[in-house]
Amino acid sequence: MSEGVQGSGRGDIVVVGAGIIGITAAFRLQQAGRRVLLIDERGVAEATSAGNAGALAFSDVMPLASPGIIRKAPKWLLDPLGPLTIRPGYALKIAPWLWHFYQASLPSRFWHSMLAQVTLMRLARTEMDDLASAAGVAGMIRSDGVLELYESEAEWKRSLPGWQARQSEGIGFRHIKGEEIGALQPGLSPRFTHATFVPGWQTVSDPRDFAKALFAAFEQLGGAFRQAKVDAIQPAESGADLVLDGGGRLRAGHVVLAGGAWSRPLAAGLGDAIPLETERGYNTTLPPGAFDLKRQLTFGGHGFVVTPLTSGIRVGGAVELGGLELKPNFRRSEAMLRKASSFLPGLKTEGGRQWMGFRPSLPDSLPVIGRATASPSVIYAFGHGHLGLTQSAATARLVVDLILGREPTISLKPFRPGRF
Ligand SMILES: Cc1cc2nc3c(=O)[nH]c(=O)nc-3n(C[C@H](O)[C@H](O)[C@H](O)COP(=O)(O)OP(=O)(O)OC[C@H]3O[C@@H](n4cnc5c(N)ncnc54)[C@H](O)[C@@H]3O)c2cc1C
Repeated sequence: MSEGVQGSGRGDIVVVGAGIIGITAAFRLQQAGRRVLLIDERGVAEATSAGNAGALAFSDVMPLASPGIIRKAPKWLLDPLGPLTIRPGYALKIAPWLWHFYQASLPSRFWHSMLAQVTLMRLARTEMDDLASAAGVAGMIRSDGVLELYESEAEWKRSLPGWQARQSEGIGFRHIKGEEIGALQPGLSPRFTHATFVPGWQTVSDPRDFAKALFAAFEQLGGAFRQAKVDAIQPAESGADLVLDGGGRLRAGHVVLAGGAWSRPLAAGLGDAIPLETERGYNTTLPPGAFDLKRQLTFGGHGFVVTPLTSGIRVGGAVELGGLELKPNFRRSEAMLRKASSFLPGLKTEGGRQWMGFRPSLPDSLPVIGRATASPSVIYAFGHGHLGLTQSAATARLVVDLILGREPTISLKPFRPGRF
């Protein structure tokens, strides 16, 4: 059986994956006058994009694969509930990805990735402003910055090279200490002696609500959604075919693969062996009012953040390398909550909802944005790791560039699928 997409015709586009990346691309393509069908096996914004920390972290340009993390990793790995864990049953499977990660952390590769990230983040900032007003969601974005916290002068000093690099790229911030920290966030434990305030950092009211609001704007423009699993994407004479679970087929002029952490097998079927893994992350969302949080706080030395959302106070982060199948270990959420209650002594820790999500991660912390080897009609847009919400609007812009045959707004070389 072969169905057209909402009828038929070469202009039709199917976007696979209704996370923040797929929804944003679908909205922009529909806005550009194309007819778009968004497909997701789980529903709209039901996976990673629903439960993240809600940050538009435009200053977060340091790739995770860095000389610094290679220094910290051995200590972190000793703590089974610490900021970085490899599940024992997954250690062998993740070894090739870790090798690429190590390579990407070498100084010359690290700086190369950082510069690519800076360029993408500049675009992310302007495109997010534009997207938010085009979709009528600007009111869901808070612009009260982030407070990055350190427990000693020594820890703060270790962060300085990163801040100097950001300064040279024009990213604004202010180092503060003592009472000024308390003025920006009353009720913090005095163990935090130093902080850096980044005013340009924003947060969304709630990531699930934000994604759903963008989806509603897409539907209002005439975009369509179908709940189905895509088993394969195959090149066709003009465009590409989608093979659906259960036997159906769809023909589309273009396909955008935005399947997050699940994109790897579909790309492999198109001739691209992409080292996509998942960095699993955990959190707990406490009821609203659990703490009078003025803005997002990040505890970099402990690998987690605390965020004020309309749905509550979200405490979470951490990285667990454990693939897509192993059961969650919610003791990780509990460990972060225990730490948060000692960092914010008045935090009410009862009544929380636990969650685990699958960050789609490439070893060099950059996403894959580009055309499939087997078909120029298939565009990849996945692998945004810790930054998918932040980079969603920029990614959508680049996807539209590729589909409309325009010169991409920024160079796509650092993001090409075949870079590994
Ligand atoms: C704890 C945590 C905190 C985070 N905090 C932040 C933050 O503050 N700021 C930020 O920018 N980012 C953050 N992130 C990262 C961010 O959440 C991700 O980068 C982003 O959600 C990825 O979006 P996505 O659309 O690519 O993937 P997803 O949201 O996972 O969506 C992919 C979708 O594709 C669908 N799909 C996959 N394969 C198929 C198929 N074959 N057929 C049909 N459907 C398919 C899936 O069902 C899924 O719905 C965080 C992540 C975690 C885990």
